[in-house]
Order: sequence, then structure tokens, then C-alpha cells
Amino acid sequence: MGEIVKLMPQRKRIALIAHDNCKTEMLEWARFNRGTLAAHELHATGTTGALLSSELGLDVNRFLSGPRGGDQQVGAAIAEGRIDFLIFFWDPLEPQPHDVDVKALLRIAVVCNVPTACNRATADFVLSSPLTAEEYRRPGSAFPESDTSERLVTLERENAV
Ligand code: PGA
Repeated sequence: MGEIVKLMPQRKRIALIAHDNCKTEMLEWARFNRGTLAAHELHATGTTGALLSSELGLDVNRFLSGPRGGDQQVGAAIAEGRIDFLIFFWDPLEPQPHDVDVKALLRIAVVCNVPTACNRATADFVLSSPLTAEEYRRPGSAFPESDTSERLVTLERENAV
């Protein structure tokens, strides 16, 4: 099976999420980058999205709040190829009630080879990359399915002997 390549459009579909202790930082970052962000399609979990649209006047498609299933919705959108970038300021200093959802979201972003920024400096680098402003052919998975299943079949055959 050939490798699946996703064409990321010039206007990227960016998902933004910030845990409560990181919302101020997300707002400052988004305010600084408002001009660039306005050129893209923005998605966010509930509260993060409400803050971004009310304080910065940006159009934001809102998922549910993170602890109410929003992180899972973003993960599903990534798996279905509906999100190109993930900017996720998760809180490294406090446990979250939805830690398992956070882990699942970060996992699916890596599986789908979606650029993911988990802190402000990385978000700066990602947003200012020349690739962000142009079309980009992104290998759809960091772990192509065919490779894995072929490896498993080989292993099964070896074990059977
Ligand atoms: P929120 O969700 O934007 O609704 O606060 C973020 C999260 O906790 O994952």
C-alpha cells in the first residue's frame, strides 16, 4: 500500500487548547500573533475558544469544553484529517480530571503526524515557519499501517515455526 499524503492547505485548520493555568499565556500569544492567526481557520475547546473570540475578536469554531469531551472531539477531528495543527498549552504542574483524554489527544496527534506545539516557544516556531503560509504535503501517518501489519504477519510466521 502506498503512503497516504495529506495536502495541508495554505489556510491551515488550527486547533487551540489551553488548560486553565495556561489560558493567560495562550491569550497573550494569540494577541501577539492575531494577524497571522486571522488568516487561518481556528478551532478550539469550549472555554479557550470563547476567550479567544471575545478578547481577540477572532472567529473560532468551538468544540465542547476539554473536560466535557472537547479534547476527544479534537482528537477525532485530527484522526479524520480535519485539523492541520495543534497548539496545546497543557499544564505540566497540575493533574487534570481529564488526563486520559489529554494523553489520547497527544497520542493521536503524533500518530497522524500533525504538527503539535505544547509551549509558547514551539508555537512561535510553528506559526512563523514558511511552511505554515504555503501548501504542504504531509505524510498522513508517522506509522504507516501497511508496515505494521506486514511486520506483525512476519512475526506471527516466525513464532509459528
Ligand atoms: P477548555 O478546555 O478550553 O474548555 O477550558 C481545555 C482543556 O482543559 O482541555
